[in-house]
Amino acid sequence: MKGAETHAVITLRRVIPEKVNVLQSVLKRLSAVDEEYTNLQEQLRRARTGYAGEQRIDELLDGVPLLDSAHILCDVELMQHPIDCLIITTSFALILEVKNISGRIDIDDSKHQCIRTRLDGTLEPFSNPTDQARKYQLFIQHLFQQWNVQLPVECAVVFANHKLILGNITSDVPLFHVSGLTYRIHQFFQKYPEKLSCNQVTNIADKLKSLHTPYQWQLKTARHKLRTGVLCERCNKVMHYLKGSWQCESCQFNSDAALVQAMQDYRLIWNHKITNREFRHFTGIESIYTANYLLKKLNFKSEGKFKDKVYLIEKRSD
Ligand SMILES: [Zn+2]
Repeated sequence: MKGAETHAVITLRRVIPEKVNVLQSVLKRLSAVDEEYTNLQEQLRRARTGYAGEQRIDELLDGVPLLDSAHILCDVELMQHPIDCLIITTSFALILEVKNISGRIDIDDSKHQCIRTRLDGTLEPFSNPTDQARKYQLFIQHLFQQWNVQLPVECAVVFANHKLILGNITSDVPLFHVSGLTYRIHQFFQKYPEKLSCNQVTNIADKLKSLHTPYQWQLKTARHKLRTGVLCERCNKVMHYLKGSWQCESCQFNSDAALVQAMQDYRLIWNHKITNREFRHFTGIESIYTANYLLKKLNFKSEGKFKDKVYLIEKRSD
């Protein structure tokens, strides 16, 4: 078929990290003068930046023709080994540790030391990404040994921000800018002959996926500091349910979607289950019947009957 393109199989797709979703919901509900606010804001910024960097790598990998028969697992968590990107080809496996930072990086592997120079010139110790990559490489090698899989395992550190300066680097782990990724993959294909069939690659990728246990990021902020209620999407003030719709008295905005978002916040911060009573407490609605009507309209699955009924707040797809 003319123009038909094949791509690597994405066995495990990257999703917005739970940490990003939780922190977004928390920051809307925490007072900006709270002592934790700036720190949480910074954590959110870093998590978003990291995710954006990883997305950049995914996009690039999608266009590498050599990977047509490969399987890719994004953000795979195997027995507490969080791997940014794991590529299984018929000739080798490749672990990518992705960093999306600015400034300058110097690495001395004989000391296992990594120093980052920020854009303002300040120096800071940075957890050595080559140590991380090697650790995951050993882990996958052991796993393959146990499974009797004869596949070489390579690892590399990829920097997603092209403005980052790679300074003095002494390391045997390949370390490069994202622009060099296609070439490096090409080199690995030249280095290693084909060892496995496509079916074997699929089986290994599926087996790895079955071991994937997503990391549960825990929020340490005290819940009582957070505002409850349905929040206005425009001005972030608490909305009220009047005459059949959610209304903001502050900016006059009217919205039904605001309740859907508020339920997502509740799921991310408090609980994925909610009773009629908890719903009223959270939204400020007094009538048990109105609460019942609104919960029904949300179309959540439920457990139990009458007074014991619990609604399960579904995760909204990204
Ligand atoms: Zn408003």
